[in-house]
Amino acid sequence: MAIGMGGNEGNLRRAFRLARQRLFPLLRNPKMSPIYRTSPVGGPPQPDFLNAVVVGTTSLTAHALLTLLRKSEIAAGRKPGGPKNGPRPLDLDLLLYGSRRVATPRLQVPHPRMTSRLFVLVPLADVAPRRVVPGTGKTVSRFLEEARRRSTENVRRARASF
Ligand code: ADP
Ligand code: MG
Repeated sequence: MAIGMGGNEGNLRRAFRLARQRLFPLLRNPKMSPIYRTSPVGGPPQPDFLNAVVVGTTSLTAHALLTLLRKSEIAAGRKPGGPKNGPRPLDLDLLLYGSRRVATPRLQVPHPRMTSRLFVLVPLADVAPRRVVPGTGKTVSRFLEEARRRSTENVRRARASF
């Protein structure tokens, strides 16, 4: 299972710590990628994001995980509403859930936009490069190579490590 973490509003150190503290106890062999500073993709003009990825295995269902992610976002101060792709203290997305594919209105896994976004693929490739994205037959590192050729997104290692 892989979870994407992002945030660009308020105390990001606190938000990332909170996410880590909530997620790690629920996972076996939890691992967090380095943190990257990334330029916003879409949405209004807004500050850079910090992004990272957490991987591990869990006995929770995908929907139970999503509920936990939502609660953690709210605990980090996220308010419902606001502009699409606008600033947020914490965004937690379920990227991958083993080899499973989920397509419901509430939950899509693999996350539909993960294979084109450098801010997801770069940290994901640090912790799970050989993982095949279900339904595509391609690995994370292969998607990363392809996205690097196309994308102009600016993704660089952050000095921060929480
Ligand atoms: P985004 O992450 O796309 O910037 P939000 O965090 O506001 O936007 O999420 C919008 C909706 O996406 C949520 O209501 C959630 O139910 C839905 N969603 C669908 N699939 C996923 C997923 N894999 N991980 C997280 N949220 C998801
Ligand atoms: Mg989200």
